[in-house]
Amino acid sequence: MSAASSAGDASISAGSPVAAAARQTLSAKAERFTESVIREMTRLAMQHGAVNMAQGFPDFSASEEVKEAARRAITDDINQYAITWGAKELRDAIARKFERTQGVRVDPEREITVTCGSTEAMMATMMGIINPGDEVVIFEPHYENYGPDAILSGATPRFVQLQPPDWNFDRDELKRAFGPKTKAIILNTPNNPTGKVFTREELEFIRDLCVRWNAYAVTDEIYEHIIYDGSKHISMASLDGMRDRTITINGMSKTYSVTGWRVGWAIAPPDASVPIRKVHDFLTVGAAAPLQQAGAVALELPASYYQKLAEMYVLKRDRMLGILTEAGFRCFKPAGAYYIMTDISGFGYPDDMAFSKYLVEKIGVAVVPGSSFYDDQKMGARQVRFTFCKKESTLAACAEKLSKLRAR
Ligand code: GLN
Repeated sequence: MSAASSAGDASISAGSPVAAAARQTLSAKAERFTESVIREMTRLAMQHGAVNMAQGFPDFSASEEVKEAARRAITDDINQYAITWGAKELRDAIARKFERTQGVRVDPEREITVTCGSTEAMMATMMGIINPGDEVVIFEPHYENYGPDAILSGATPRFVQLQPPDWNFDRDELKRAFGPKTKAIILNTPNNPTGKVFTREELEFIRDLCVRWNAYAVTDEIYEHIIYDGSKHISMASLDGMRDRTITINGMSKTYSVTGWRVGWAIAPPDASVPIRKVHDFLTVGAAAPLQQAGAVALELPASYYQKLAEMYVLKRDRMLGILTEAGFRCFKPAGAYYIMTDISGFGYPDDMAFSKYLVEKIGVAVVPGSSFYDDQKMGARQVRFTFCKKESTLAACAEKLSKLRAR
């Protein structure tokens, strides 16, 4: 039933001018994007009883110490609003960790905003820095949120391709994407969905463009500790000249396997933190106070915690590469993060959507269709993404299901 007919006037049909006028009262911005395909795939996995290799959330336990810290915080009655831009203990811990791991010193009083997940950190950042007419450079394939982030903040995206199999970018193409209207580049390293870890040399090239065009680098570093084969995660803010033009987005979700806690943050120079904090305040007021308290404990875990995390994930990556290769996928081996992009050309399906539908409905495995990582859907028509942040029994179930699939 359309909104117009439910209002009680039977003479108004869906196609009438009155209905059209009613439709125009809805947000034109919101009409420009769809709901998250990644999260939709999780719903489909549940509906079809499929193994969920789509959405990147761990299905294994979080650290006992971190969980205990959250329980303790609730018992200790840390149950009211924290300071809107973040509990002091957590901001202090974020500042200490950033200095410890990346050598970047920030002022927790003026340069850190704690948000509801890095998703909100990114949105608050974009809404905080963008003006009409501003452009943002986005590498693609990209995490799907960046599209709606650009639309809602009013930025015009300029896409630059990361090219398989190595996901390198063409430096001239990147140069051409920058100009006088460029407000920022959105960078995600280690990268979702490709697993690319940007090298120092690449970051320096990007840095030089940011300096030349007076642009911000907004860097999503949520997978910073999930890196393989000796790759090194380098924060853009640690590069000479970038300390004051980088906004670093991060959060607890992936590092501590607590994606449902929704604790993230933005580290930004004071002048940029002011609007980010204002937007954040009116979007959500604040992230869950007891979980922020637990975050303060988590961020003080010893280096061995992060080492073990990476060691656990490299085994899962290799296991998943084996499963997928055996099943007939061409895999792009990730150097970081916990996803594998694959080429599905061998299966003979018309596109990624048809293949993903077949996988979830008939084979019993949910994946993310490649097109959801591209502005131009055709670019992802031969790709699907698998995550491997799952326990061994889930990986084994996935292997079992995929054995029914044979390259045609
Ligand atoms: N980052 C995860 C993914 O890409 C999911 C994030 C989310 O759904 N909020 O699958």
